[in-house]
Amino acid sequence: MRHIAIVGSGPAGFYAAEAALKALGPDARVDILDRLPTPYGLVRAGVAPDHQSIKEVVRRYEAVALDPRVRFVGLVDVGVDVTVDELLSCFDDVILATGAPRDRRLGIPGEDLPGVVGSAAFVGWYNGHPDFRDLAPPLDHPTVVVIGNGNVAIDCARILARTPDELASSDIAQHALEALRKAQVRTIRLVGRRGPHQVSFTLKELGELGELDRATPWVEAADFPPPEADLALEPGQRRVVEVLRRFAATGPDGRRPIVVRFDFFRRPARILGRERVEAIEVVPTRLDETGRAVDAGPAEVIPCGLVISAIGYRTAPIPGVAFDEREGRFANEDGRIGPRLWCVGWARRGPSGTIGTNRTDAFAVVERLATTPSAGRPGRVAFDRLLVARGIATSDFADWRRIDALEVARARPGAPREKVVDLGELRRVALGAPVA
Ligand code: NAP
Repeated sequence: MRHIAIVGSGPAGFYAAEAALKALGPDARVDILDRLPTPYGLVRAGVAPDHQSIKEVVRRYEAVALDPRVRFVGLVDVGVDVTVDELLSCFDDVILATGAPRDRRLGIPGEDLPGVVGSAAFVGWYNGHPDFRDLAPPLDHPTVVVIGNGNVAIDCARILARTPDELASSDIAQHALEALRKAQVRTIRLVGRRGPHQVSFTLKELGELGELDRATPWVEAADFPPPEADLALEPGQRRVVEVLRRFAATGPDGRRPIVVRFDFFRRPARILGRERVEAIEVVPTRLDETGRAVDAGPAEVIPCGLVISAIGYRTAPIPGVAFDEREGRFANEDGRIGPRLWCVGWARRGPSGTIGTNRTDAFAVVERLATTPSAGRPGRVAFDRLLVARGIATSDFADWRRIDALEVARARPGAPREKVVDLGELRRVALGAPVA
C-alpha cells in the first residue's frame, strides 16, 4: 500500500488524487483533507457564479472522491488541528494543494482603510465563502476602482456590472445579490499600471465585458501604440488587443447606464479617506525599455467608495513548511518541498493558469512521487487514531452530499443552489445535526 494525504480539495488536490490512483493502481490509498466540509476549493468559491459551465468539472472530481481507494476528510485544519510532521508520521507522502487564498498587498498608504478589499475577499463574498460572508463591501458610491489587469479584475468588474436579474439564476450568494440590487455603482474603473499590450486578460473573459445588459466598456484610443505594433504580439495576445481596440472604437453607447472604464498606464499610489476610502491617488506611467512601468506625470485623484485590489494571490504558510516569501508559495523544487513532502497547483507555482493547468502540474509531481520508495507508514488507521485522541470531529463525502442536497433544495427559482455560508451551520449539517 502507498498511503497519501492530500491537503486541500480544490482542482490541484483532486488532480493529484486522480494522478495517484493512476500511477499507483490498486495500492493507492488517498485521503483528501480540507478545512471546510465542502470540497472543490476555487471551483466552488472562486469561479464566477455567472460561469456555471466551468463548474461542471466537479463531476470529474466527484468520480475521484467516490473511488473506493479515496476518502474525503473535511473539517481538518492542517497546521492548526494537526501538523504536517504528524501527517508525515501517518502517511507515506503528503501533498500540499492548499492554493493561494490570500490577497497580495498593494504596499501603499491607506490600504487598510475600510472600503479597500482584496479580490480574494470580494470574490469569496459574492461566492458565499464562509470566511467572507460578512465583508459588506460599500456599494453606495457611484465609482468603484478595481486594480489589476488580469481575469480576476474582470470577474469583479463583471459581477458589479451585471443586472441582478442576470445574476439571479446563478449560484451567487443571496447576501451579495441583495447588496448588488441596492448598489449605486455607475462607473467601474479598471486601473492597470501598464498598457493594452501588457494585459493578462483572456479573450473570452474580456469579450464578455462587451456583451453585458446594462454596461459598456470604455477604452481611451490614446492608450494604444500604433496598430502595426500589434504585429509583434503573439497571436493570442493580439486578439485580446483587437478586442480592446474595438472597445475604444465603439465607446460607451449612452444607452446602458454603467461604464467599465479601462484606466491604463496608472499606478496606484495612495488611498485617501478619513473613516473609509474616499478616493484613490494614481500616478500616470509609461513603460521603460525593460517593459516596467515608471512614473510619467503628476498624480491624479479618482473619487470612489470601494477599491478592489485584484493584483494576485499568495499561499498561506503552514508552520514548519519551507516558504518562499518573495514568491508567496511553498519553497519547492519541481513540486518537492522535502523528503515525502510535496506541493502542487498554485501552492507550488503561484497563482497562474487555468483549472486545467493544475492537472498537468499535479500529474507531473505525482509521477515523480511514484518513483520514490514507500516509507511503509500505516496510513489512515494511524491518522484516525490521532484525530480521535485530539477530539476532532471530521466530515466525509456523504456529509458533503447532504450539504449539497440542502443547498440545491434552498436554491432561488432558476438557480442551481443557495450555498450555506455560515461555518457553524455547515458544521452542523456536516456532522449530522437536524436542519431547520
Ligand atoms: P494575474 O493574471 O497575474 O493579473 C494580476 C494583475 O495585477 C496584472 O495586471 C498585474 O500587472 C497587476 N499587478 C500586480 N501587482 C500590482 C501592483 N502592485 N499594482 C498594480 N497592479 C499590479 O492574476 P489574477 O487576475 O489574480 O488571476 C490569477 C490566475 O487565475 C490567472 O492565471 C487568471 O487567468 C486565472 N483566472 C482565470 C479565470 C478564467 O479563466 N475565467 C478567471 C479568474 C482567474 P503587471 O502585469 O504589470 O504585473
